[in-house]
Amino acid sequence: MSSEEILKEIASEIAVCEKCGLCKGRNRSVPGEGSPQAKIMFIGEGPGYHEDQQGRPFVGPAGRLLEEALASINLKRSDVFITNVVKCRPPENRDPEPGEIAACNEYLDRQIEALDPQVIVTLGRFSMAKFFPGQKISVIHGRAKPGRKRLYIAMYHPAAALRSDKTMQEFRADFKKIPLIIAEAERRAAAGTLISAPPKP
Ligand code: URA
Ligand code: SF4
Repeated sequence: MSSEEILKEIASEIAVCEKCGLCKGRNRSVPGEGSPQAKIMFIGEGPGYHEDQQGRPFVGPAGRLLEEALASINLKRSDVFITNVVKCRPPENRDPEPGEIAACNEYLDRQIEALDPQVIVTLGRFSMAKFFPGQKISVIHGRAKPGRKRLYIAMYHPAAALRSDKTMQEFRADFKKIPLIIAEAERRAAAGTLISAPPKP
């Protein structure tokens, strides 16, 4: 199966999933969307009101900022892949619970495997916790970390940027680093050194 077919199959499973209690309050599940050939994947927290209404990720105010930030580096939504740690909206936009994140994790792992992006950007603390356990966003944001198959980079959640001017500045500055990080991931992949080489200071 192509990555496009696998991503579609995962989305169809998510549409009817009842693996955790979040299925009860959802209007629509939000599997994520974007190019099946994307080199870069963004992982947020979970659907909010607008996402739950439309079945699409990041379509509210945070999504507008994300789109604007993508445009600042000449990327469109359709060039990247955008998803979340949990695919159904937590009631009243509360934080997703550990059991819900664990129940939904299989879908995220399968999406990552199917897409096999060169770069994963985490948005906010729940997706950061998956790849940077125990780390603090204020310390590690904007710094690429090499993994076995790709580079990982944690960024502030766009909703946090909308709440604070300082966070907004850092969010925008981190975003501007993305083209160089993609180039670095490509260089490392071509040289076969993605695996254990330490990140550049
Ligand atoms: N916030 C998120 O974390 N994800 C969305 O899809 C929308 C808002
Ligand atoms: Fe299934 Fe994830 Fe929705 Fe829970 S949040 S019901 S695990 S798709």
